Amino acid sequence: MANLDRYNIIFKSLEVGNHTFEYELDNDFFKSLDNSEIEEGKLNAVVTVQKHEENAQLTLQITGTVQIPCDRCLDAMTQTIEVNEELFIHFTDKSEEDTDNTLFVSDSRGTLNIAWHLYEFIVLAIPIVHTHPHGECNVAMMDKYNQYVVRNIGENQNNDDDVTKESYRTDPRWDALKNISNNN
Ligand SMILES: [Zn+2]
Repeated sequence: MANLDRYNIIFKSLEVGNHTFEYELDNDFFKSLDNSEIEEGKLNAVVTVQKHEENAQLTLQITGTVQIPCDRCLDAMTQTIEVNEELFIHFTDKSEEDTDNTLFVSDSRGTLNIAWHLYEFIVLAIPIVHTHPHGECNVAMMDKYNQYVVRNIGENQNNDDDVTKESYRTDPRWDALKNISNNN
């Protein structure tokens, strides 16, 4: 388990003004997080802190790639990530509920660990549908999946409501991939 202390931003030790922190987020970073859905990646994060007396504004810029399963064939694929987000920090000793981009940091402690925030912004930057570029899916896996889908369409022929499965049959991409696997 890697030490996440390096992702601490210790506000009380920062002068009012601008400060920049830079992090390399690699496989060890994702392994060190509890419950990370991402296991592999290589990203660069630049966190700019604008510190004021009562609050601070963080700009997080993250660029790089992560390895995640392709939606179509389930093999690992490389997803490009670009994050440009802001976090607003209020220093207060009152206990207040954090919202999406506004966090409350205890005045007396004055430390924020941003490891999980970096992770969450990376996850949010993954497109809902993510697949290999056209024609680069694992054909053996696709073939198995096609057989499964075709069999299920056959079993549900009378079910006109089944839009999802129907769409596979009419999607020209599936026909193209079937041709590739048949030619092998
Ligand atoms: Zn794929």
